[in-house]
Amino acid sequence: MRSKLVAGNWKMNGNLASNQALLKSLIPLLASVTRARCAVCVPYPYLAQTEQILRGQGISWGAQDVCEYEHGAYTGSVSAGMVADFGCRFAIVGHSERRALFGDTDAVVAKKFAAVLKVGLTPILCVGETLAERESGVMEQVIARQVDAVIAQSGAAALGQAVLAYEPVWAIGTGKTATPEQAQAVHAFIRGRVAEQDIRVADGLPILYGGSVKASNAAQLFAMADIDGGLIGGASLVAEEFAAICKAL
Ligand code: PEP
Repeated sequence: MRSKLVAGNWKMNGNLASNQALLKSLIPLLASVTRARCAVCVPYPYLAQTEQILRGQGISWGAQDVCEYEHGAYTGSVSAGMVADFGCRFAIVGHSERRALFGDTDAVVAKKFAAVLKVGLTPILCVGETLAERESGVMEQVIARQVDAVIAQSGAAALGQAVLAYEPVWAIGTGKTATPEQAQAVHAFIRGRVAEQDIRVADGLPILYGGSVKASNAAQLFAMADIDGGLIGGASLVAEEFAAICKAL
């Protein structure tokens, strides 16, 4: 059976006071969730605070990105080793906002993925198409290219230590969710693509869905055969909403 995960992506939101309130509320709300892992991916400056509040509480935490380099003259960047120092279990790489707004190419994302694995953390690799790509019929090509870049860099076996997240760009932060059938079709495509390289890795690979998941639509999405959890943006900033999504899984 594949492991199940709901990960919150706080993006560039929060402050010391609001984080404390959110994290402290999540602890009792998630205490009854034992069959799925729950995690929050927080901005770098709050990793220490998150570690201090969540350590030993059964909730994991992670970073939202890492630099592809290990150390050196890269002003403003944060390495995978640095976030590992704060007890992270996960680091997101390839989020569509990093790809679209900060120029992360497939090759850079593949290097970031390798950097995360190298320090023993689990990468959450995001892939997904824009609306224009879906409508022009190149969706599968785009997603295959994004997955293949990581396989070319690290090998298919490396996906055995990773989590994948399918996040259609048109569904992120827009309130438009892919239907369970639309999401399932892409998840099955991704699993099939990995299976062409390594069937065992493909069978065990957790593939999360992300894109306007809410408490009201989570259960239908999570009921699909190839959807193993969710990557949650906006709804992860509200404790009760995030907890309800975790419970739906
Ligand atoms: C995300 O940014 O990863 C995401 C899925 O955002 P939202 O849930 O707000 O659409």
